[in-house]
Parts: sequence; C-alpha cells; structure tokens
Amino acid sequence: MLSMSTAVPTKRINLRTPEVMEEVQAAVESHYHSPMVERLRSSGGVATFGDVTVRLAKQFGFCYGVERAIDLAYAARKVFADRNIFLVGEIIHNPDVNTQLAAMGIRTLSGPCKLADIDKLSAEDVVIVPAFGAEVAVQERIKARGCQIVDTTCGDVMSVWKRVRQYANDGVTSIIHGKSDHEETRATSSRARSTGGGGHFVVVYDLEETDFLCAYLRQGGDRAAFLDKFRGACSEGFDPDLHLRKVGVANQTTMLRSETEEVQRRIRSAVTARDGTEDNFRVFDTICGATQERQDALLDLLSEPPDLMLVVGGYNSSNTTHLADMAREKLPTYFVLNAGCLESPQLIRHFDTGAGRETTTGDWLPSGPVSLGITAGASCPSNLIEDVLLRVLELRKVAGPAVV
Ligand code: SF4
Repeated sequence: MLSMSTAVPTKRINLRTPEVMEEVQAAVESHYHSPMVERLRSSGGVATFGDVTVRLAKQFGFCYGVERAIDLAYAARKVFADRNIFLVGEIIHNPDVNTQLAAMGIRTLSGPCKLADIDKLSAEDVVIVPAFGAEVAVQERIKARGCQIVDTTCGDVMSVWKRVRQYANDGVTSIIHGKSDHEETRATSSRARSTGGGGHFVVVYDLEETDFLCAYLRQGGDRAAFLDKFRGACSEGFDPDLHLRKVGVANQTTMLRSETEEVQRRIRSAVTARDGTEDNFRVFDTICGATQERQDALLDLLSEPPDLMLVVGGYNSSNTTHLADMAREKLPTYFVLNAGCLESPQLIRHFDTGAGRETTTGDWLPSGPVSLGITAGASCPSNLIEDVLLRVLELRKVAGPAVV
C-alpha cells in the first residue's frame, strides 16, 4: 500500500458551476425523471385506474446521496469531455443507471482490488469514486497515479468512517453490522485499519452471526472456529481473544433499522454480562436518514396493507432488499428490476432475497378490484417506477394517467 505522503494530491475543481449544472440537470431529468410519478406523489400517492388502486409509499426512490453522485458523474462527463473517465465499481446499485453512464463513455475499473486497471491509469484520466466510497488502498493507488478524482462519496457514509476511525484511535474494535462484501462496508472497514494504530474490525451480517459473536464475548470459545466463521469478514491479524476486549458497533448505512437495533442490544448485553459494566462497549447508529425515511414510509403503507406490493430496484441494492423483506413479512411482494419483469398477469420475474437469485411466480396479478403498493430503493430512478406502474395498468387493460 502506498502511504499518503507518496500520493500526488488530486486537483480540486468545482464541477457543479451554475452553467454546468443547468445542462446536467436537463440531462438527468430526461434520463431519470417522471412527471407522472411526481404528480402522483404530490397528490398524496394514491390513485385509482379502473379497478386498480395504486398506493405509493410516501418516500421512495433516489436519495440525496444518489442524486449528488449522479449529478457529479454527469458534470464530470461534461467538464472533462475529451478525457477518459473511469468509475471505481458501480456508481450506485441500479443496472439501468450504470448502463446509461456506460453509454456516456464512463467505463468501470475491473478486478476485485481493481489494482490491475489502476496501474494503467495516467494523470490525464478522471476517476469517479462512487456514492459508497472506496477502500483506502484503492483510493491511495489512484491518487498516486495522479488522476483527477471526482469523489461522490455520500456524507452519511463518511460519518460512519469518522466513527470507525475514532474507535480505532481509541483502541476499540469496530463491529460493523453489514455485508462484508458490500462496497460501502469494505470502504468503511478499511478506515478501521487506516489509523496509526491499525485498528481491527469484524463484520456481522445478521442475528445468527451476532449471536455467535456474543457467545464468544461472554465465554470465549474455539478461536479457530471463530476465525473460520468470520473468514473474509474481519481484519488481517484479528484475534478474538485479544481484539474483543473493547468493542464499538457501527453499521452499513442501508441496513434494516430494527435488526441493527437488535444487533446493538445483543452485543451491549454480552459485554455487560462479561465485564459487569458497559465501559468496554460503544455504539453509534449510522443508518442514514434516507434509508430510515424509506423504511418508515413503507411501515406506514403496510399499516393498511394493499393486496400486493411491488418493490422496484437493483437486485444488489442493500436498502431495496430490506424494503422487500419488510413487505414480504406482511403480504405478497415482488422485488422487480424494471417493467420487463412483469411479463404477463400469469408470470412475474422477481428477486428472491433469501435464495439470492431471480425467480418466477405465476398468477401474481389478480383479476377484479385490486390494491397495489409500490415503493423503490434509494438507487431507483422515477422513470423505472413509472414504467412499472404503466405496465401493471397495461396488463390489467385499464387506461393510465396522462403522461406529460
Ligand atoms: S442510501 Fe443513504 S448513505 Fe447511501 S447514498 Fe443514499 S443517503 Fe447516502
């Protein structure tokens, strides 16, 4: 890894000047906006077409962090019109948006650590860091190539980094509730290692992994079994007998709020049972505002459940997956990528979050009066939501709203 002192500082350029943004906003609106969805949203989110009643969640779709990242990517394309532009992975987890950026000539660096491609970059190249951020080693390597960096990392993600760095500086091991191979969690966990002291981390994905970790906190156990369980999800050199004495919990910004709270509660309880005090436990809730709002809005919608629910978004989107899981607990729910998944009233393709693959369901759209709930993850543009809504109405052979 290159040290910060060997890195060439990236040039600071304000991409979002009024002239650039005027054109950027026009392009972004033409690609992702839906006047129809906005009209529905502003009129309360409920509308009836024939015998189909549609209810939109009060909050859904693009969040502020995603909007900013897309604006910056479009602005970079405009300002650096003659230069190669690369993305460190997907800018957000939505294939339609990523395809659109590719069509604009923005290419993605490849490889698990992306170092092969990074080593071919030159100072003339522009590199966009996505909304999730990037690992410290990757960012330093890009800086060392002298590239122009356009950093779209969301401020809410950077708040988690701040917390994890603070834990590391204080000799506290970060327990991160998240998915260990998610870009954001990889970027966050790398911050635990980047402080002078080289802090440690372990990532727990769910309550089963939390309970395994809590059992070790309470009474120790088989060190090799622990390391086997968290292979690829803990820091290099992690020793559960040494590095679980002081722990601090943080989370990927897009986790399910109720599960994150339970993770915090169980770890707090295990440390307290072990030490007789909470002194060696810290916590900081890092669920972002946009994730929280979308989960709250869905809970509100589900308080009077529709007959079925469509959740629109990229299958690898963490926050969308949690919305789908929340809805599926209450009613038939289909997590779809776009309108193309709604093949006919007899057949829908949708993502099974438990199995981690797309599946199909037959006879999903009932005939007769039906109420349909719709929500979408923070990385889903409104035009895809409009397409899905219009496709439902087309399948039911009822006229939709006038499209402006
Ligand atoms: S989901 Fe939250 S953390 Fe992620 S980009 Fe949106 S606001 Fe930022």
